[in-house]
Amino acid sequence: MPTIAVPDVQRLADGVLNQDRRAVARAVTLIESTRADHRVAADDLLNVLSPHAGNADRVGISGAPGVGKSTFIETLGMQLVSAGRKLAVLTVDPSSTLSGGSILGDKTRMTELSREPGAFIRPSPAGTSLGGVARRTREAMIVCEAAGFDLVFVETVGVGQSEVAVANMTDVFLLLLLPLGGDELQGIKRGIMELADVVLVNKADGPQHDAAQRTVAEYRNALHLMRSRTPGWEAVVEPCSALMDEGMTQVWSLIEKHQAHVRAQGVLNERRRDQAKRWFWDEISDGVLMHLKSMPGAHERITEYEALVGQGEKAAPVAARQVLRQFLG
Ligand code: GDP
Repeated sequence: MPTIAVPDVQRLADGVLNQDRRAVARAVTLIESTRADHRVAADDLLNVLSPHAGNADRVGISGAPGVGKSTFIETLGMQLVSAGRKLAVLTVDPSSTLSGGSILGDKTRMTELSREPGAFIRPSPAGTSLGGVARRTREAMIVCEAAGFDLVFVETVGVGQSEVAVANMTDVFLLLLLPLGGDELQGIKRGIMELADVVLVNKADGPQHDAAQRTVAEYRNALHLMRSRTPGWEAVVEPCSALMDEGMTQVWSLIEKHQAHVRAQGVLNERRRDQAKRWFWDEISDGVLMHLKSMPGAHERITEYEALVGQGEKAAPVAARQVLRQFLG
């Protein structure tokens, strides 16, 4: 991350509200910073911007590496931007946390879209935990919405908990799958399937066209038996080809239909309220944990007890309570 001075928050906020792209980029850099003085400035900034956020459609997009997410976002994004939408593409990439490498950010992606004045693309922040990465992405979403982006895509890779994090910050959750040769489901965990409002079998073109149709049928059957997270909305399964631009208009119609449904039923407001409350609690948990770790002697004691727990010499809950009692009273 480039070093930045603590900026004049009001000026930065004005820049964001005036839809100045450089201000948007600087604001996101500020909120991703881990420096304590930057954090204070970032909180001030979010305070000013939050009342102006919340007006975008928030779309979560997930799928294993190679399924076609960036092609999908490029094709759909170009259509929407041409139709006058202002699109921000953010990512939650847990690989930047787990391995230090990034699955989503390493290659140049969405080359056409990234040149569009109506689009803003930002790779995943680095972080020490998935929770940290996800919360910074949520803050970036506030900045983008305050800057007038009326559509936010939050992309993630299908490698575990990150889908849950993304579903917890978006209105509608898309899961991209590949056409299958056989008849087995793609090892997608049931919990992840249940998050999906729209399931898309991508690459439904050329030699894979028929396999895609079969895969669609299989997932329709499977999803029929699962409960949906959205009252009155049963997950939809459709084929598409992001590369050949087939079925993409229908995909967007489905998303619009979903948004109209959740708005009309009051589900959207309720979902966003719940998401905000959960975010609040996440920040509190994280803050308490950071406070604990920063207390004199705490790190050493925790490391010591962790080893004892690992060797079976101390029971985990007892050790945890002793640490809490010693440092938090
Ligand atoms: P990501 O890792 O999920 O972002 O996947 P990419 O968008 O980078 O796509 C991976 C590969 O699949 C690339 O070679 C794409 O050209 C190809 N691809 C993406 N969408 C389609 C599609 O709809 N049909 C076909 N045949 N190939 C596709």
